[in-house]
Amino acid sequence: MKNKDFKENDRLIWLFTEKLGKISVVVQGAKKAKSKNMSLTLPFCYGEFVVFKGKSMYTLNEGEIEESFQSLLTDLDTLTYASYLNELVEISMVEEESNKELFKDLIITYYLIRNKVGDLESLIRAFEVKLLRHTGYGLNLENCCQCGKKINTSNLISIQYFGVICSECNRSSAYILSFAAVNTLKYLIKIPLENVYKIAISKEVKEELESLLSIFISQSYSKKPNSLEFIKLLRSDKNE
Ligand SMILES: [Zn+2]
Repeated sequence: MKNKDFKENDRLIWLFTEKLGKISVVVQGAKKAKSKNMSLTLPFCYGEFVVFKGKSMYTLNEGEIEESFQSLLTDLDTLTYASYLNELVEISMVEEESNKELFKDLIITYYLIRNKVGDLESLIRAFEVKLLRHTGYGLNLENCCQCGKKINTSNLISIQYFGVICSECNRSSAYILSFAAVNTLKYLIKIPLENVYKIAISKEVKEELESLLSIFISQSYSKKPNSLEFIKLLRSDKNE
């Protein structure tokens, strides 16, 4: 890269910040041995970072790690799932657009994974639901997405309009969920991430929600997350 802001030992990373949203940052001297900034470039590091806006990009000069979350790296499961969270943030956010709710939910999910609160799959599904909502693609299971009528129960989902379809509207292209999956989805929309561990979700429902949410995610954002494939691989290994 030829850029005045960028020198040989520098490293380019992206940070997800509370105030500035996702930003590309040059970390000065990060590649040098014994650099004080090296640790700041580790994945999942949460802390206070001081950045300056240069001509074309931000530069990170110093920072203080509040919680490094490096224990997430010591287990293949937690590493894979936490990396998937990062990838979701990366593909769903445009640069320099603050999203405080998503920021908060990401940090909460890191803590919950690290402290092993609830099972990973349920947490990830809940995070996906929150991510969709925080980025303007929230699911509406209370009203028909076509006519707006209040709905008590419907298991027909419109992929196009992010919600349920009532019995009087056109259901030809509906995606069919089990009623158990609809109810679980309603819970995940409503409850905070900290409470996800309180609900028991069956393996079948988790699979249904995974398929549905992955459709919403790949149609909403610019890229499809790659780490999802790796998660599937990891799981099939265990089931053998
Ligand atoms: Zn309707």
